[in-house]
Amino acid sequence: SNPDAAEAIRIISVLRERGFVAYLAGGCVRDALLGKPPKDFDVATNATPEAVREVFGKKNTLAFGASFGVIGVLPPRNAAMPAKTAVSATEVATFRSDGEYSDGRRPDSVHYGDAHADALRRDFTINGLFYDPLTRSIIDYVDGRADLDRRLLRTIGSPDQRFGEDRLRMLRAIRFSTTLNFTIDDETFAAITVHADDITDVSGERIGVEMRKVMTSPQAINGLQRLVDSGLARNVMPELLHANMEQLSSLLDHLPERSFARSLACVALSSQASVIDTCSSAWRLSVEETRQAKAALDKHDAIVNADELVWSRLQPILIDRDVDVIADVAQAVVQSQRRGAAGIHRVRDALAWDPQKLNPPMLLTGDDLRKAGYEAGPKFRVFLDALRVAQLDGEITTVDEAWRLIERLNNEI
Ligand code: ATP
Ligand code: MG
Repeated sequence: SNPDAAEAIRIISVLRERGFVAYLAGGCVRDALLGKPPKDFDVATNATPEAVREVFGKKNTLAFGASFGVIGVLPPRNAAMPAKTAVSATEVATFRSDGEYSDGRRPDSVHYGDAHADALRRDFTINGLFYDPLTRSIIDYVDGRADLDRRLLRTIGSPDQRFGEDRLRMLRAIRFSTTLNFTIDDETFAAITVHADDITDVSGERIGVEMRKVMTSPQAINGLQRLVDSGLARNVMPELLHANMEQLSSLLDHLPERSFARSLACVALSSQASVIDTCSSAWRLSVEETRQAKAALDKHDAIVNADELVWSRLQPILIDRDVDVIADVAQAVVQSQRRGAAGIHRVRDALAWDPQKLNPPMLLTGDDLRKAGYEAGPKFRVFLDALRVAQLDGEITTVDEAWRLIERLNNEI
């Protein structure tokens, strides 16, 4: 039923006809067994990258990661399809076994091998399964089925060795246990505590990729707690060591929508504001996400207390480009502290207004003042600001009243 699955099965069938072994591999097998729709369907085969390109034709393949044995195979072109239709390639990886790891990040060499060897080089037992779509059978060299049933995350082989080889796996363990809501096996967890400080060998971007998945998960708080308990937080998110985890848990629970920026703002509220800058630069967050997290931290108070503010103080926040994020964080604060919801309701109502009502045009502009003979200068800003406040608060409603206010200010200042 899924076109990506059908395409992967087509590729497997073609490889089989040519005498190769080919299976679905890794995350898609895991997700399908968990009853979750897989993100992508990866194929693993004993055909070498060159053989894969030969079987499907050079023009139908992409040499993605040919050096580590991955070829992208494109779906057959359909005559009815416009020339520029975006098509996604299926990743076809040659079975391999990884050589020594001397830098804690990537193997020094890769050797092509068989399915069994390929299962053993994978990180966790639940990620080491193959599925043969032609016989509809699971091929399990690593007891991954049993761990899936027990909802247990466990490395393939000695966790001490596997985390020593590739430090990123420690954070992947936190990530998968969080998003899948699995327990981490005791021995696996103990090895993370031993190697935790070596996470500094991993680039900030790759850490950010995993942390994004942790922080946008419905179970984010479990992941953040494991980050603290394992010692990884010391280097990955030091502010978390000083966080009020109960408060953070409650804030995250009450977020109407989980996004990276929203979650990060909640961490900042429960620990230290500096966490936003720390993560933003270490993980290379986008300008937008950083701005959103900061806006939520700095401006949510106005929305929390919206029922006590005059309109001219509240309105600028409601036309802020990040108001959705600010309002969601404010709502989490209000609900987690069981404070009155009148302010939030006032804000939610106003956000549904017609834009003209929420942000009416100025009664007079700087141009109008210039034309009337007022000299541009510092006073101008004061005049215009006073005009805006008076207009928003309903003290003036007509252009005539606006001019009278300007004249009065001009005499006073
Ligand atoms: P997701 O749904 O997040 O994509 P996934 O299991 O597909 O999860 P990927 O990062 O796409 O994860 O990797 C695909 C597969 O490659 C994994 O299932 C695992 O078998 C293997 N793998 C990925 N990264 C590592 C690693 N650092 N060490 C060992 N094996 C890995
Ligand atoms: Mg994947």
